[in-house]
Amino acid sequence: DTFVEIDLAECLNENIKRCKYVKPTPIQRHAIPIAMAGRDLMACAQTGSGKTAAFCFPIISGVLNNGVGLSPARGVDRGVCPSALILSPTRELAGQIHEEAKKFGYQSGVKIAVAYGGAPISQQLRILDRGCDILVATPGRLVDMIERSRVSLSNIKYLALDEADRMLDMGFEPQIRRIVEQMDMPRSGARQTLLFSATFPDEIQRLAADFLSNYIFLSV
Ligand code: AMP
Repeated sequence: DTFVEIDLAECLNENIKRCKYVKPTPIQRHAIPIAMAGRDLMACAQTGSGKTAAFCFPIISGVLNNGVGLSPARGVDRGVCPSALILSPTRELAGQIHEEAKKFGYQSGVKIAVAYGGAPISQQLRILDRGCDILVATPGRLVDMIERSRVSLSNIKYLALDEADRMLDMGFEPQIRRIVEQMDMPRSGARQTLLFSATFPDEIQRLAADFLSNYIFLSV
């Protein structure tokens, strides 16, 4: 019952120790192996369950395995091309995920950036332009960046939707659908999707049916 048993990238194990995580939480124990096996996942998770690590660890591991720096710093005309996207409902949550993900990815070479509304876009774009493997974003700000051709989602291999029910409650469904359409534009099937939610109303089930393929439902 340790993180070492899970076949994560070595530098991730070092960072997990640095974070003083000794034992996986229940959601981590079950979600990480499923995600590491490449499966789509819909997981029931509350705040405080350790869900951030549950989706960050497999994503960082996957990005490391695929090779970092594949996302060129600022493509020719469509902007930077991250290989992973984490969508979050609020600026606060996006900021928290970004901070945690940076700790998990410390000295790994994985570039992690954040984009949220209610703060100047210019500074976020400047950081993004240096290259980005994993982008943590709120839906509205991300759509803005896509429309400005500063971010391209054509290279996304991993998509995590955090607090999906809250994103829908906040009216982000059209933005989320636009974002996922962008990923499916070149061709679909290559993307792994992890959806985390505290509740599972019909709208979430529909979202899962539309975005996930052959997924495992996890409730711990
Ligand atoms: P989260 O549910 O992702 O917001 O995590 C809640 C809090 O638990 C955060 O402060 C995490 O840093 C912490 N945490 C997550 N996983 C573990 C773990 N396996 N061991 C100890 N603390 C953890």
